[in-house]
Amino acid sequence: MTTCDVLIVGGGVAGSSIAHELRGRGAEVVMVDRGRVGGASSGLNAGGVRHQFFHPPNIRAAKATIGIMRDFGDRFGVDIGFRQVGYLFLYSSEAQEARFRQAVAAQNACGVPSRLIGLDEVRALAPEVSPEGLRGGCFGPTDGYLDPRAVTEGLARAARERGARVLENAEVLSVEVSRGRATAVVTSQGRFMPAVVVNAAGAWAPGLAARYGDTLAITPRRSQIFVMEHTPPLARDMPHTFDSDAMVYVRIDGAGIRSGSAVKPIIPDPPPALEADWREADELQRRVAHRVPSLRASRFTRAWAGLIEVTADNNPILGWSSAVENVYTAAGFSGHGMCLAPGLAPSIAAEIVRESPEMPLDFYRAGRLAQPDALQHESLWLTTHRPTDIDEWVAARPA
Ligand SMILES: Cc1cc2nc3c(=O)[nH]c(=O)nc-3n(C[C@H](O)[C@H](O)[C@H](O)COP(=O)(O)OP(=O)(O)OC[C@H]3O[C@@H](n4cnc5c(N)ncnc54)[C@H](O)[C@@H]3O)c2cc1C
Repeated sequence: MTTCDVLIVGGGVAGSSIAHELRGRGAEVVMVDRGRVGGASSGLNAGGVRHQFFHPPNIRAAKATIGIMRDFGDRFGVDIGFRQVGYLFLYSSEAQEARFRQAVAAQNACGVPSRLIGLDEVRALAPEVSPEGLRGGCFGPTDGYLDPRAVTEGLARAARERGARVLENAEVLSVEVSRGRATAVVTSQGRFMPAVVVNAAGAWAPGLAARYGDTLAITPRRSQIFVMEHTPPLARDMPHTFDSDAMVYVRIDGAGIRSGSAVKPIIPDPPPALEADWREADELQRRVAHRVPSLRASRFTRAWAGLIEVTADNNPILGWSSAVENVYTAAGFSGHGMCLAPGLAPSIAAEIVRESPEMPLDFYRAGRLAQPDALQHESLWLTTHRPTDIDEWVAARPA
């Protein structure tokens, strides 16, 4: 039996950055993961980090994250391969332009230098992109991409160096609850009696919550990455480019590109790992080649799948459980945990040790989800609906 101040379940980017921040506040921390640190979504994602969100709390959180990423090498001694080449969203309609204009206004008000650009500038930034059917672009020059596994492992290592215990291959088997408190957490590596439990279990957070009698409105969805390992050379500084109509993205990856789509099938009761579904590849190739014609003869050669953890408004759930008084939820990052979790971690850690957070976290409370009409949606693809299967996505193919 081990006592500690805080037991964090989940060694992803959320758990690792919170562990690091909690140690900075002197809390005695144990972080457990049933696999390896960064072995789930946090190591499998596209590594995109952007300021381009719609709502100020998220823009401010992303700004804090990107500040950390810029200094990561100096601060943590780890090369995370951060390439600040920008995010470029391409759009074709007036309605999309209006939505991006609104977002840019919010971003600029937070000090983020994003802007709407015309097709000449789109061509200058991404010469291989075909302007066919496009109206313009929305460009965030301070966005970029990095190696997400290096970030997560780097944060966990920094937490360890500050004195956190990080246990891998330690699965939470049960949570004992008595009089509205989690009194013990039983893992495959022993029994812990923490004062506070943090549920940072990503797509598996609802399953963990069920063990202490709570429900979390987080839907696990599969998200895939496809890689063309060798392609005709593209401009090295090509931004991370999103086609809002085709719902696909393209970015440089080594001597080729990596890509993905908005197709996110729901995976109820998700297993720890998923296989890639290659049925998505043909349609993805068609759409990518339409926007980047020099990729017409290239094929995807590698793919993997992970899970995103989606709430009804695509914003995370942060705060104390309403079912059990000493459990704090930090999950439901909805496919943008790399962008948000490190920046929010100092404020989350402050709340866990009952200090006031630097960034107010009220925007992220679970209670908001009970009022669907008042939700403030984040929407990477400018729509709150994600195609739930490949056939639906193919059927909605743009002209
Ligand atoms: C293909 C793909 C592309 C993505 N692209 C981006 C992107 O470009 N930018 C971005 O910001 N985000 C992106 N995301 C989303 C991002 O990866 C997630 O939002 C983020 O990793 C969530 O971090 P987390 O720490 O909450 O969860 P995770 O990294 O999933 O960590 C949760 C951990 O909990 C552990 N766990 C679960 N149950 C238990 C248990 N019972 N006992 C012990 N441990 C347990 C798991 O093993 C896991 O390691 C993408 C995701 C995917 C899958």
